Amino acid sequence: MIIGIPKEIMQGEKRVSAIPETVKAMVDSGAKVLFEMEAGVGSHYMNEAYQEAGAVIVSDVEEIFAQAEVILKVKEPQYNDAKNKHELDMMHEGQYLISFLHPASPANHQMVKHMAERGIIGLTLDGIPRISRAQAMDALSSMSACAGYKGMIMGINDISKFVPFVTSAVGRLKPAIVFVIGTGVAGLRALSTAKGLGATVYASDIRPEAAKNAESLGAIIVETGVPHEIAVSPDGQHANQLPEKWLTAEREKFNDIISKADIIFCSALIQGKVAPVLITEEMVKMMQPGSCIVDISIDQGGNCAITTPGTVDVKHGITILGIKNIPGMLSTSSTFMFSKNIYNLLAYLTKNGNIKLDLSDEIVSSILVTKDGKIHHEGTLEAMGLK
Ligand code: NAD
Repeated sequence: MIIGIPKEIMQGEKRVSAIPETVKAMVDSGAKVLFEMEAGVGSHYMNEAYQEAGAVIVSDVEEIFAQAEVILKVKEPQYNDAKNKHELDMMHEGQYLISFLHPASPANHQMVKHMAERGIIGLTLDGIPRISRAQAMDALSSMSACAGYKGMIMGINDISKFVPFVTSAVGRLKPAIVFVIGTGVAGLRALSTAKGLGATVYASDIRPEAAKNAESLGAIIVETGVPHEIAVSPDGQHANQLPEKWLTAEREKFNDIISKADIIFCSALIQGKVAPVLITEEMVKMMQPGSCIVDISIDQGGNCAITTPGTVDVKHGITILGIKNIPGMLSTSSTFMFSKNIYNLLAYLTKNGNIKLDLSDEIVSSILVTKDGKIHHEGTLEAMGLK
């Protein structure tokens, strides 16, 4: 099997889909790996290390797309300005593409149709089911952990106070107060980062299990008051989209802590839906001068009503971070985690040296986006109005 690793071309994307260690594992299992020259530089993995691991370093990405049977990427395919061609137009029928494709997102519908037309077999990492046997392939969780950590560090860097309790010759300084909203994978990582630096941490989640996890990491829980049957999906796994009445009630419960917090970390999400608005502009006005909001839910619309996507703004004296692609800002660690996840998926799908898709397997059926010219992904068909 020939595996191709192109350099990511999305602006500012520093990650790459393989590290020397995973390249070595692929080569040891009998594959040939074509690695685009300097594709690892943004995450500080150098050509020589890939070469030592057994990769063939290729300077022309078109050669990689032409020869490989499987392409591993971090981000969905896009237009390559240097080549004056879309990445998909460098690919061929029957070729596998494994990446974060986010196929249900309206911004990617055209790309998904294009992928089907080209006969590409598209497999998306954001489709990996949240089941124990798929944990080692769960790149979304890995990237959430990166965003939680780095996002909290950015918030901490922004405030003009010590985070820990400090005793000095002129008196004591109280620890910073941090409030984490939504304690899934990202929120819990953010919480433990702040806690580790000595902050006083409050947290809230409408799923009692998530709140319990936050409490076990040392957070003081702010109760949302939302009843279990309204908050949690029937399978008990996911948060529901709340009716406006309950969102209003939840916001009221937050008023007290919002007026005290130095950092508000927003990571409340609902699968496949826009993020709930939990901080209104009026609530921002209630915050302490110089405090900050880190809104990592911005890709899904944001938990704060006045976050500007992609930027850092100061509004009503409060810094609001709406930066996107935070995992890319932690590129060495995020590349390490992503590469291991994608390698584990590839190894799982490979039988006797070639990919074999068993469509009756939950992992395969959840990640399959396009095959034989058709779109297979349920969420995408629904979002396109084709189902
Ligand atoms: P997520 O990123 O989808 O959401 C983040 C959090 O926001 C969730 O905990 C959710 O309950 C919370 N939230 C939603 N609406 C809210 C509101 N109005 N107010 C407050 N909080 C709100 O979550 P995630 O990190 O992807 O994790 C979701 C669940 O899946 C968790 O239980 C996690 O432990 C589980 N999980 C399991 C696996 C696995 O078994 N392989 C892997 C990853 C996550």
